[in-house]
Amino acid sequence: MKIREILKNRRTLSFEFFPPKTEKGIKSVFETIETLKTFRPDFVSVTHGAGGTTRALTVEIALRIKRENGLLVMAHMTCIGQSKEEIHSVLLRLEDSGIENVIALRGDPPREQTSSAPVKGDFAHATDLIEHIKSNFEFGLAAACYPEGHPESTDLASDIEYAKRKVDLGAEFLITQLFFDNSDFYRFLDSARKAGINVPILAGILPILSTSQIRRFTALCGATIPENLDKRLDRFADDNDAVREIGVEHATTQVDDLLASGVQGVHFYALNKGYSISKIIDNINRSSWSTQASPLPTHSS
Ligand SMILES: Cc1cc2nc3c(=O)[nH]c(=O)nc-3n(C[C@H](O)[C@H](O)[C@H](O)COP(=O)(O)OP(=O)(O)OC[C@H]3O[C@@H](n4cnc5c(N)ncnc54)[C@H](O)[C@@H]3O)c2cc1C
Repeated sequence: MKIREILKNRRTLSFEFFPPKTEKGIKSVFETIETLKTFRPDFVSVTHGAGGTTRALTVEIALRIKRENGLLVMAHMTCIGQSKEEIHSVLLRLEDSGIENVIALRGDPPREQTSSAPVKGDFAHATDLIEHIKSNFEFGLAAACYPEGHPESTDLASDIEYAKRKVDLGAEFLITQLFFDNSDFYRFLDSARKAGINVPILAGILPILSTSQIRRFTALCGATIPENLDKRLDRFADDNDAVREIGVEHATTQVDDLLASGVQGVHFYALNKGYSISKIIDNINRSSWSTQASPLPTHSS
């Protein structure tokens, strides 16, 4: 099943996992997936080489989730630092294994490098990867977008132009980078629609788990923590349980508001943990989940 077909009929709920490096981590992520499966996600996704995880594991974990948990899986595929042949062979493997959906990403350079420029690879941008996938495969295709702009972008307008290019080349829906202030998402959505991006845009939500971790993430991805939230995170910096509850409270408010506004899908960055997401979904007013997503624009403006 292609995710674009699901999005024609309803708003989606999805969870993102990363491939753990240890046996213990793998056992734990599959326990989390079993727990979160009770919320009947429309799909789950598995990251590729993010934060230094091994790329080969993405395919293994994606296949296991498909086989053992019976869930629709979208594989992340990055292109930075890889040859066309390497990328092609991973895509062939995914296709052979019946994975039908892929999100095409550039990826980030290894942590020790500050710029992506010196990392060799045949594709410089997600747009190149999308072109390759569209010319050679029939995957359902997604791409990333950035409500506050990608950290390397000079301005939001050029970033939106590149997002539009990804859609023009074949991305059937977009998933946003994490954000903590819904007005950033609404502003982006408005600009994207004005730029003629008429595909579903799913909101990427990250329930905060620890102060130091979220500071690290936001420093890397350029997302802003609103001042009030930041002060609370500071106050409880040494108490992860308290921070986790703050994260649940904040994400619940965000998701409630997004659903009421007609968002086309909520994509949770699960970080392989189930507790916060379970609480957030339990907190959400049931009737909010079934409210209609806003209709997509039918023409470019
Ligand atoms: C939903 C989501 C999932 C992610 N999953 C992963 C993952 O699994 N693994 C991982 O390593 N990282 C992942 N990331 C992080 C992502 O790889 C980084 O944000 C990366 O820096 C940019 O990826 P991109 O696909 O948006 O790149 P691109 O679209 O290539 O954009 C990168 C920068 O170049 C600009 N740009 C885009 N196209 C062009 C072009 N054709 N010419 C010139 N400039 C251009 C953009 O404006 C932007 O500033 C994910 C991010 C999101 C939002």
